[in-house]
Amino acid sequence: MSDPATPQSARAVMLDVPGLDALIAALAGAGFTVIGPRLREQAIVLEPIEGRADLPAGWRDVQSPGHYRLEERADGALFGFASPPHAWKRHLHPPEVRLMRARSTGSGFEVTDSAGDHAPPRLALLGVKPCDLAAIAAQDQVFGLTPDAPEASRPDPTYAGRRRAAFIVALDCGHAAATCFCDSMGTGPAVPADGGGADLVMSEIVEGGHRFLVRPASPAGARLLDSLPEGTGRPPEAADRAAAAAVPEATRAAQRRRLDPDHRRIVADNLDHPHWSRVGERCLACANCTMVCPTCFCATVEDSTDLTGDIAERWRRWDSCFTMDFSYIHGGSIRIETASRYRQWMSHKLSSWYEQFGRSGCTGCGRCIAWCPVGIDLTEETARLAGRAPAQNAAKQDSATPTGGE
Ligand code: SF4
Ligand code: SF4
Repeated sequence: MSDPATPQSARAVMLDVPGLDALIAALAGAGFTVIGPRLREQAIVLEPIEGRADLPAGWRDVQSPGHYRLEERADGALFGFASPPHAWKRHLHPPEVRLMRARSTGSGFEVTDSAGDHAPPRLALLGVKPCDLAAIAAQDQVFGLTPDAPEASRPDPTYAGRRRAAFIVALDCGHAAATCFCDSMGTGPAVPADGGGADLVMSEIVEGGHRFLVRPASPAGARLLDSLPEGTGRPPEAADRAAAAAVPEATRAAQRRRLDPDHRRIVADNLDHPHWSRVGERCLACANCTMVCPTCFCATVEDSTDLTGDIAERWRRWDSCFTMDFSYIHGGSIRIETASRYRQWMSHKLSSWYEQFGRSGCTGCGRCIAWCPVGIDLTEETARLAGRAPAQNAAKQDSATPTGGE
């Protein structure tokens, strides 16, 4: 996270494509494990990378409800895709964490290891899109890292450690899939002018020569730019800045899907609407939507012992409001019907999240739409609850690719 005590000194820099390797090397040299996009099993995933050769050059995703495919793009863009299936949350709020390990003393147990005992990994997240930057900000609040967080006095040690040690390179978005609706949520496709919590902000420009405009957004980002080897990059010209500004604007113009801006009231006023039952008939309660969502944070805690009974462990694992056990209280589960579980999820995201955190729980990344096997779409379900046919979201297989001009 940013260090407000250190003045910013570096200015924005233009990097050519090999210059990106210098940036990645500088991050590695500063002790970070660089996490970035790469191809794996016909998808773009967010995993450790060593250089630009690992990036998905010339690939874009085509997404629609229940559909995700990759296809080649002609311009060689390195970040020419929309939301990958993995959100960055798996690196800041890992799917499973051992909270505690204890050993039998004969008369009881002594704790030998707890989650807060270990130095967190220092991760540099390369290419965080604005919708996901907003999701990280939402999880900062959920896990108690912001002054307005409900649990501000007791930040979650695992999340807080990873988040405070992280360095974020945000990216103006240059490609909207048909599932994206960040513009209607106010979370993209441009990184906010103040950096939105990032350390560096990057724009990928393909028109007129493949290059990157990189600007510092925190003192740590400024120091990182200062540390680039002599002769790396050049000062940006007015034409570079204009080309960089045009990238998210073209993405905005290409975005068709929207969530009704009155979604909070629509959902809250229609909790008994018959449409929930219709969605419940389609929903498989598979929990995909909650696993891919960058803001979903629910977890369960499991205790176990080894076969001798001498070693006990407590693990935290991602959980989902779509499982029967999630709402189990003494006597049974309180959300038996699939429809009630879907209503719980969507009404939390789009309505009660405002009461809890003062903001929406949705950033418009579109992952839950693409990765729902039956194509349930919260923008469409909101329109139905409002009594409208969701014509605004009529299938549009994919949108423009502004960085590449395909
Ligand atoms: S609810 Fe869906 S569109 Fe909204 S942030 Fe979560 S995954 Fe993205
Ligand atoms: S809405 Fe879709 S992704 Fe979510 S639990 Fe139901 S079937 Fe699975």
